[in-house]
Amino acid sequence: MTVTHGLEADVLRRQDPELADVLLGERERQATTLQLIAAENFTSPAVLAALGSPLANKYAEGYPGARHHGGCEIADVAERLAVDRAKSLFGAEHANVQAHSGSSAVLAAYAALLRPGDTVLALGLPHGGHLTHGSPANFSGRWFDFVGYGVDAESGLIDHDQVRALARAHRPKAIVCGSTAYPRHLDHAFFREVADEVGAYLIADAAHPIGLVAGGAAPSPVPYADVVCATTHKVLRGPRGGMILCGAELAGRVDRAVFPFTQGGAQMHTIAAKAVAFGEAATPAFAAYAHQVVANARVLAAALAAEGLAVTTGGTDTHLITVDPAPLGVDGRTARGRLAAAGLVLDCCALPHADARGLRLGTAAVTTQGMGEREMPVVAGLLASVLRGGTEAARAREDVRELTAAFPPYPR
Ligand SMILES: *Cc1c(COP(=O)(O)O)cnc(C)c1O
Repeated sequence: MTVTHGLEADVLRRQDPELADVLLGERERQATTLQLIAAENFTSPAVLAALGSPLANKYAEGYPGARHHGGCEIADVAERLAVDRAKSLFGAEHANVQAHSGSSAVLAAYAALLRPGDTVLALGLPHGGHLTHGSPANFSGRWFDFVGYGVDAESGLIDHDQVRALARAHRPKAIVCGSTAYPRHLDHAFFREVADEVGAYLIADAAHPIGLVAGGAAPSPVPYADVVCATTHKVLRGPRGGMILCGAELAGRVDRAVFPFTQGGAQMHTIAAKAVAFGEAATPAFAAYAHQVVANARVLAAALAAEGLAVTTGGTDTHLITVDPAPLGVDGRTARGRLAAAGLVLDCCALPHADARGLRLGTAAVTTQGMGEREMPVVAGLLASVLRGGTEAARAREDVRELTAAFPPYPR
């Protein structure tokens, strides 16, 4: 790891000890608290090495073989590697690896397929839709006419009848399937069928589960969606960034929607790091990891339910769990604060059955650290005990420190 070890770290420490301390402090925080934020993970030292490489210096507007700058012959090799690896990993005809983030990937997907003012059907934000699925604070809500479908208040499952009825009533130009908080697999065949019935494009925003897809632990949206948007930094465990997969016939439109329509020069160090991550994700070790992530999440969900928390949909198919802590006498916001003080880091989220906030947890990061089904009940016990007020924050913080000490995310 270059940030705090090795030659580069020494250079940074000599030149800018203040910032070197900040980086060291963050490394310490990540290693000694429990990273239960469902969107986070620990990238490998190889990915970090690519991110810290001199490719960060290179301007490479355009695409391999057709750049607006000179000296791109090596950058081209890096991007071709990333594209080829993504295509083979996901069985896609085309991959664009330049999107700076998951949100940029969604923006480009809309730019490729839609015009301002078009109607789009997506999971409503109060039900787990992402900001890019029609939030009035986001370009999506400002430039498109979003109609939101929801989840059933009791079961927490997507209301398929409502999706079909809204699609028939509003005739959207595109249907988006994907969520920031849905713990179950999506029925891609169902969404494809509804999209075909009303003549809409199907956009799968697989930002969360794409890493599980890579490891064969979740169904792939690639055979069903016209365009698949994803992040590379969640379960997939690559650098922060976005990616778009599509069929050959939309390749040109998608590429032009990324550059020059919504972005300038590609971040070549990040693209190199994406190539490294795709290489890792194609290994049997990563497939085992992805399945372990889900096994851990299932055990954690069951343990949280046994501790008295209300688990949305009764469990999970993925890395992601949402719970209502109300049965333990706290609301989501208070719970998140108390848990943070104890070193359990997670997010709040919407709940299907209540206006109150719930908690969203994921197992991608702790699984990368090497935690397994034995540790998950320990995590659930700590969490519940902090929420019940049975364990002081300082005491729980020590317990978390002890647990994480056995699973360092990076070699020391
Ligand atoms: C995380 C996420 C995004 C956005 O990713 P960023 O890289 O944070 O922009 C988009 N859509 C969904 C469903 C997500 O979960």
